[in-house]
Amino acid sequence: MLINLYSDTQTRPVQAMRAAMAAAEVGDEQRGEDPTVNALCEQVGKLLDKPAAVFLPSGTMCNAIGFRLHIRPGGDAVHLHPSAHPIVAEAGGPSALSGAVLAPVPGEAGMFTADALEAALFPAGNRYTPCSRLVSVEQTTNLAGGRVWPLEQVRSVLEVAARHRLRTHLDGARLMNAVVASGVPAAQWARGFDTAWIDFTKGLGAPVGAVLAGSAELIEQAWRHKQMMGGALRQAGIVAAGCRWALEHHVDRLAEDHTNARILAEGLAGLPGITLDPDTVETNIVVFRLADAPRFCRRLEAEYGVRMSTLGPDLVRAVTHHDVDTSAVRRAADAVAAALCDQH
Ligand SMILES: *Cc1c(COP(=O)(O)O)cnc(C)c1O
Repeated sequence: MLINLYSDTQTRPVQAMRAAMAAAEVGDEQRGEDPTVNALCEQVGKLLDKPAAVFLPSGTMCNAIGFRLHIRPGGDAVHLHPSAHPIVAEAGGPSALSGAVLAPVPGEAGMFTADALEAALFPAGNRYTPCSRLVSVEQTTNLAGGRVWPLEQVRSVLEVAARHRLRTHLDGARLMNAVVASGVPAAQWARGFDTAWIDFTKGLGAPVGAVLAGSAELIEQAWRHKQMMGGALRQAGIVAAGCRWALEHHVDRLAEDHTNARILAEGLAGLPGITLDPDTVETNIVVFRLADAPRFCRRLEAEYGVRMSTLGPDLVRAVTHHDVDTSAVRRAADAVAAALCDQH
């Protein structure tokens, strides 16, 4: 059987979640009449301590609409890390759908400091430069290896944003991983952000859905964009029930994914040819360096039944999740060791 460490998006809904979905009360979501969706939005609003929230088909749409809410036509820029999802994995959506200038802010491990942000901002009132408008933070950092921004660093970045009157957006695709790893509640992470969202299709293991939260006014505007982009739904309670089930049953267990990622990292770190510091593994993502990563990953899957993904010519990512237990993770580490040995 394949040990699938490609992503935590590979989880399949468990039987109890499917049962909850099958039994969901439903209505016309876009008329505000789906009780299960409404309950989910209320729940996420409370979780993130925001007055309003809207159910969306994907995290990508949360970013698309979030950016759209903040970016005005005519040269507005969003500041975010160069490895951030909207830059690398949303098909150019920020430019195509919001007309945003992407203004990367460099930094270690998918994060940037308040000073780096300050240095990256365009001077206000300058006729030549784009207009700094939005700061987007990714928690946890996906391609940088599931790292958790320290709370003080988020606070100081938000202070810079506030001082320059910028809007702020929290890409919380894996926010609950950060919550479990840090012990800091979701509402504290979301505090000070104009918009924030969580995804249910990553480690939480639901098949469909994400919720974007913010002020009542912003979420009212978000509904217009949801309609425009084709994200307004009908009996979406079926999928929202999976999200509700996940919030109740799959949050605390993220700790197991984190332990498994750590076990995997420790198993891989000593192997010849692999560069990896297990101490950098804070959540469920393990990123390591290895020469000729694409060829290695193809062999690892074809010959050893272990799937990982390549992030670059010499970069591999393995993500732990609900459907891969500790013994499978140990077998995956052994498989990598065997595959490396075989090369010689
Ligand atoms: C997965 C992911 C998204 C997009 O979410 P989807 O539900 O896959 O559309 C956005 N940001 C980050 C950091 C992600 O990991």
